[in-house]
Amino acid sequence: MEHRRIGKLEVSVVGLGCNNFGWRIDKKATGAVVDEALAAGINFLDTADMYGTGQSEEFLAEALGGRRKSIVLATKFGFSMGEGKSGASPAYIRQAADASLSRLKTDYIDLYQLHTPDPNTPIAETLDALGYLVKTGRVLEIGCSNFSAEQLREAEAAVQQGAPRFVSVQNQYSLIHRAPEADVLPECERQNVAFLPYFPLASGLLSGKYRKGQPSPDNSRGKDGWGPAFFTETNLDFVELLDDFAASHGHSLLELAVSWLAAQPQVASVIAGAKTPEQAKANAEAANWQLSKEDLSQIDAIVMQTA
Ligand code: NAP
Repeated sequence: MEHRRIGKLEVSVVGLGCNNFGWRIDKKATGAVVDEALAAGINFLDTADMYGTGQSEEFLAEALGGRRKSIVLATKFGFSMGEGKSGASPAYIRQAADASLSRLKTDYIDLYQLHTPDPNTPIAETLDALGYLVKTGRVLEIGCSNFSAEQLREAEAAVQQGAPRFVSVQNQYSLIHRAPEADVLPECERQNVAFLPYFPLASGLLSGKYRKGQPSPDNSRGKDGWGPAFFTETNLDFVELLDDFAASHGHSLLELAVSWLAAQPQVASVIAGAKTPEQAKANAEAANWQLSKEDLSQIDAIVMQTA
């Protein structure tokens, strides 16, 4: 498994998104997914305080046990946990970080990310509070999520000399959703900020198990009615074309989806979610296709064809 940098952290190019834990799968199933992901070479796990209202962090801690120090652990704060406060004020950050550390049963978080911009707190105050967490060793690196290019520039401008800056941004990005290419990815390149693509499989649409004219498989997000924005007729048409392209090169759609993200230089880790050990293993193995410039151009042409 290739490794890439997020600030001073070294992460596997395929990571594990943990938003199913505590919400769609229980503690035992979480343990099985984590065991398989680690066995397959994944060392980067991305969760958030709000996933499963705290249970993702709790189940993850239990699943990792003594292996915590051998992995790179990312979590997030800022969205409401159901009741009480949210946001990115210094007081809330102190409270949220303590709560995550306690649920994760650890004394440090490798990458602590602001889940969403807080329009009510000046970014300089947020950075100051996060900087204190770094200074006191409770956090190694800081990142942000759902930030625009403009918000990345504002954050960069607010960093005090010698103080920590955001080393990553986590936004939606996949073959189905390429909006970051317009401005966020170029801004990441300019600032040398790592990009973490969320919904990399478009909620499973790019796994290859959804086919035009066929019902969604049982026990899948498509069947659950989750994320209906992904499972549209237009997207299913696009999937057919992508699948044909992958097959003509001896690869699967899943390999195309993961390898295409890995081919983007700013992408540090493809944090695909998994509900079963088999999915975690397949995703870990899917970054195996070195796409050529010509392959990438042909994929762009398929996009143009369906736009
Ligand atoms: P995703 O990675 O696009 O899709 C994951 C889902 O696809 C799985 O739960 C599974 O669903 C299906 N799947 C995955 N691998 C598969 C395989 N090999 N074969 C068949 N089906 C497969 O979406 P996501 O998990 O929601 O997003 C990834 C991560 O991004 C999250 O876990 C979270 O860490 C992060 N995230 C961040 C934000 C943010 O605002 N920062 C927002 C969303 C997500 P089924 O088995 O149920 O079909």
